[in-house]
Amino acid sequence: TVDNGQVTDAALPLPGWTHAYSGKVRDLYRPEDGSEDRMLVVASDRVSAFDVVLEPGIPGKGTLLTTLSLWWFDQLSGADGGIRIPNHLAASHELTLGADGIANTADDVQRLIPDAVAGRAMVVKALAMQPVECVVRGYLTGSGWAEYQESGTVCGIPLPEGLANGDRLPEPIFTPAYKAPMGQHDENISYEQTAELVGADLAAQLRDASLEIYARAAAIAEARGLILADTKFEFGLDAEGVLTLADEVLTSDSSRYWDAETWRSGATPADRMASFDKQIVRDWLAANWDKTGTAPTLPAEIVEQTSAKYRELLARLTAA
Ligand code: ATP
Ligand code: MG
Repeated sequence: TVDNGQVTDAALPLPGWTHAYSGKVRDLYRPEDGSEDRMLVVASDRVSAFDVVLEPGIPGKGTLLTTLSLWWFDQLSGADGGIRIPNHLAASHELTLGADGIANTADDVQRLIPDAVAGRAMVVKALAMQPVECVVRGYLTGSGWAEYQESGTVCGIPLPEGLANGDRLPEPIFTPAYKAPMGQHDENISYEQTAELVGADLAAQLRDASLEIYARAAAIAEARGLILADTKFEFGLDAEGVLTLADEVLTSDSSRYWDAETWRSGATPADRMASFDKQIVRDWLAANWDKTGTAPTLPAEIVEQTSAKYRELLARLTAA
């Protein structure tokens, strides 16, 4: 997936762990002792858009993504108001935010996380990952808006006429994408294709879980003045075959967050969708690159704005 030399930088040798795989943003490690139940997921500062890794990285992004994920896993697993779907965090991965705003975890898990990656790593259950990116959209924008303008549908789902970029959908929709193997682009698929890929039973589980988690998370975000416009989940099966929420969750990489107040009052699409996520990078890249050849280097101000927005999102979510 990453072929420009960054993997070798990123895949640090870590005591107790053996490097297994690097995605565009995360590096995965297996326990050195060969046990197969756990993995270490390390979030790097790498940033990707349109399925390519860009230069330079966003300083501190790995820590921000990990902290956001841990905060959301914690929110979603509460006894009241939690979701029914278990997550991949190792059992005692408790969250407390330190004075520095960085996630601390319970001692026994913390001991497994090497100092070199402290704050940006999670010890997780190793799962059989499903090859489907489970996207939920509550609002119309991005590739959904592009398809809607062409055909009045999003991922084949017909929508009412007359919607504008950034409008709220009548109800959230599940719009899965096939998680393409290394080097290929992920591709939107219909629900029927999802059922062919993973079986009807699992497809229904993925859809229902995704819609449930989105609804819960959108309500939590709304209480903090934020719109969760859309997001992407990944699920795996544990050793007993139980569907488990994995990967990062509800981060500014995997989600679009907008300010609710400016969305309501905003005059232009840019106002309405003032975002706390990777959109800054996507917009700059779309304006400065024709998606052939090597992507241009991100200017310092785009790097700084992105990092500031990620920090602001974390602060707004965790303030209450
Ligand atoms: P690709 O794998 O195509 O590069 P990506 O760029 O999204 O996709 P990253 O997000 O950087 O990859 O890396 C995270 C990888 O870890 C993903 O392949 C994801 O499916 C996998 N993963 C996440 N959680 C788990 C888990 N609990 N067990 C096994 N694999 C996991
Ligand atoms: Mg990923």
